[in-house]
Amino acid sequence: MEKMLLSLFLIGSLLQISLVAQQNAARVSSVLIKAGRLVDVRAGRVLQNQGILIENDRILRVGPLAEIERQASPATRVVDLSHATVMPGLVDCHVHILLQGDVTSADYDEQLLRESIPYRAIRATVSVRNALMNGFTAMRDLGTEGAMYADVDVKNAIARGVIPGPRMFVSTRAFSGTGMYPLLGYSWELTMPEGVQIVDGVENIRRAVREEVKYGADWIKFYADRRYYMKAGVLHSWVNFTDEEMKAFVEEAHRLGHRVASHAMGREGIDAALRAGVDSIEHGYGLDEELIDRMVRQGTYWCPTIYTGVYVAEGRAREGRPIYMTMRDMEAKIFGVAVRKGVKVAFGTDAGAFPWTENAAKEFAFMVRYGMTPMQAIQSATITASELLDATDDMGAIEAGKFADIVAVANDPTQDITELERVRFVMKGGQVFRDELSH
Ligand SMILES: [Zn+2]
Repeated sequence: MEKMLLSLFLIGSLLQISLVAQQNAARVSSVLIKAGRLVDVRAGRVLQNQGILIENDRILRVGPLAEIERQASPATRVVDLSHATVMPGLVDCHVHILLQGDVTSADYDEQLLRESIPYRAIRATVSVRNALMNGFTAMRDLGTEGAMYADVDVKNAIARGVIPGPRMFVSTRAFSGTGMYPLLGYSWELTMPEGVQIVDGVENIRRAVREEVKYGADWIKFYADRRYYMKAGVLHSWVNFTDEEMKAFVEEAHRLGHRVASHAMGREGIDAALRAGVDSIEHGYGLDEELIDRMVRQGTYWCPTIYTGVYVAEGRAREGRPIYMTMRDMEAKIFGVAVRKGVKVAFGTDAGAFPWTENAAKEFAFMVRYGMTPMQAIQSATITASELLDATDDMGAIEAGKFADIVAVANDPTQDITELERVRFVMKGGQVFRDELSH
């Protein structure tokens, strides 16, 4: 009996010791990354043989490896990426995690009519995991497309460590006016689900903005236009809201400390969204020099979503919407002009409009083909994206104080931008989610 008590006591003490050890480990976790090449996005250059010292979820110090190594403690774990290129985690500023591809309107209607919101949320958990494994450590979701506030739930599940995924900035339900967004074309005696929150009139808009913020929206997103058509070489569109209505979205969101993204394709839509003072223009396929100059003056960001334009063009043309081919080709021409004039281009792909099995990093190669240097394309997905998200204290560069959101590729992406389609190391908040590179 005594023996048994003694052994119980011993087991108890051992358990206690291991618990204390675990708590100590949880208190400070220290990691040193040896970076053979480090992309310094602020200076726009690639540095050799750098060290990154990480404590828990944030970066403590960055500098020449020999210097940083001296500051590491014996308990510091080393991640050897001395043969790789290390860079800040990528940020996609335009995604729809609750959508799984909508090349045709049948694809879209199918998801809203045959998939429950819980089922779509389950699929979204796979979308966000794919994105993280591809190197995206933060994303802005611009509309749940009928799935209500499920983006807030996915965001919370990621933030609480329930599922792996990027840091999420969400806009819950995008806004449009009555009759201006799918589902459309069904018998009038049916009450169909809406892909957006329908709202008309200034006072209703103010209340609807407050309501979305109440349920967790970080961003407010509205559709400025629809019914795109060409006339005399100009992409025109029908505007969805009056000036007073659009200004109400922006005023109310800003008053509550939130930013506004506007889907705007044609000249009239972009023009109206800029008059209202939105923070970002989404797609903007119909941009021209005059609109570009206004964006530069106003400091408006542009999310060009090139890859989705390319991905959906032919399918939508076959479906009877050939305008998408024209819009794709127009953007190829105007992109370089916007870059030269100094528009703040924030990397955004519209992932979800193409399936999540596609790697959204394919966008980079188009940005370079259309007129950016590889470094500019990298900056748009890191430093510029973090500015748009008002998150420069936390992300966008590998600097002391920011989250340890770090990715790595085998070769130098400033030499071959497609290297970003082959991210092989992913760390978010100091936690390694993927590593096929370190030695
Ligand atoms: Zn979109």
